[in-house]
Amino acid sequence: GDLSAADQDLVARRARALGPAYRLFYETPVHLVRGEGVWLYDGDGNAYLDTYNNVASVGHCHPAVVAATAKQAAILSSHTRYLHDTVLDYAERLLATFPAELSHVMFTCTGSEANDLAFRIARAHTGGTGFIVTENAYHGVTYAIAGMSPSLGEGVALGEHVRTVRAPDPLRMQGDLGAAFAAEVQAAIDDMLRHGIKPAGLIVDTIFSSDGVFEGPAGFLAPAVAAIRAAGGVFIADEVQPGFGRCGDTMWGFQRHGVVPDMVSLGKPMGNGYPVAGLVMQPRVIAAFGAKARYFNTFGGNAVAAATAMAVLEVIESEALQENARVVGGYFADGLRGLAGRFECLGPLRAAGLFLGQEIVAGGPLKADAATCARIVNGLREARVLISATGPRSNVLKIRPPLVFSKANVDHFLAAFEGVLAKV
Ligand code: PMP
Repeated sequence: GDLSAADQDLVARRARALGPAYRLFYETPVHLVRGEGVWLYDGDGNAYLDTYNNVASVGHCHPAVVAATAKQAAILSSHTRYLHDTVLDYAERLLATFPAELSHVMFTCTGSEANDLAFRIARAHTGGTGFIVTENAYHGVTYAIAGMSPSLGEGVALGEHVRTVRAPDPLRMQGDLGAAFAAEVQAAIDDMLRHGIKPAGLIVDTIFSSDGVFEGPAGFLAPAVAAIRAAGGVFIADEVQPGFGRCGDTMWGFQRHGVVPDMVSLGKPMGNGYPVAGLVMQPRVIAAFGAKARYFNTFGGNAVAAATAMAVLEVIESEALQENARVVGGYFADGLRGLAGRFECLGPLRAAGLFLGQEIVAGGPLKADAATCARIVNGLREARVLISATGPRSNVLKIRPPLVFSKANVDHFLAAFEGVLAKV
């Protein structure tokens, strides 16, 4: 489609006011004014099916969440240096969703800050400085964490003591995936030790979103976790994308692997759009940090953030959204498999609940086709279905809708998808 003159003006104003570091989605950018449930609306009232936003996890502008935010904002918005019930009520309720060993939580505003705090705590606890991340990982924007986010590209240097490992891609790793991934981690540890670097930790997104969505086989992470611990490092699970029920079978992505992390970072869906994030940890890992340092995050864990996050957790439970993710995600995967026989470009599908990665290929499962993938993403946008692509080869459709997605929404997606596939 063509961009209206008014929207062309917005694009120009963006460049003038916001500078060169931002990127817009789609060849024809989308200009949204309102959201409700799984739908987003432009100024002309056109509805777009949101198949991508995991932030508005319980649905855009969920009335119970909006009401909780508004109510608390009208009473008191303060920080964590005064006593307040709400932040503790929320902390206890959140911790109850974790294995018993993970019994402290600290609040931040962003996932980046949560990972940055994990980085500092891991260094204090282990006395080490070396971190291991996957080849196309994304963990956030602070200086330390951008240095552990190779998906930012070659313009952003890796941190000094950061080592990358290949992602656990079942198409490209030989043999048992758990053993192969652990061997990668062990090689990185050995390389650190050769260079006089003491390992501090392994941090992974437990569904490897930016690496291309690697959900299974469940359990494959356990040997790598054992390897980093044997080397004196900690295991940090980044649950910013897979967490809060999205993967269907479990509340947290790491639970699919039968491991208990030393720390778990949370963000995006935690406040359904309100900036609230956090770091859950085993008490022993923060003893050294807590003895020396104090931590104060002005907005992190304020009463409005806590009330909002509490409402999100209540909606996940009362609307059984983890179960919905499991059931509707399964239906979604079946639908995509049904199309795969008819369209050659549909390669391997990987899925856990409402987190799906569909490889777009040309002539075999290993032949990534980024160009066709981009045409699909833009074709769907023209059909008013919002989606994006991920992975180091930019050829994996990342399907990650709000958890209130229904089977009817899946049917809507599949009809639009089929129409676009017939054209590309
Ligand atoms: N970790 C992962 C896996 C993420 O996807 C993101 C955000 N894309 C972050 C951390 C950083 O979160 P934030 O943008 O809230 O700082």
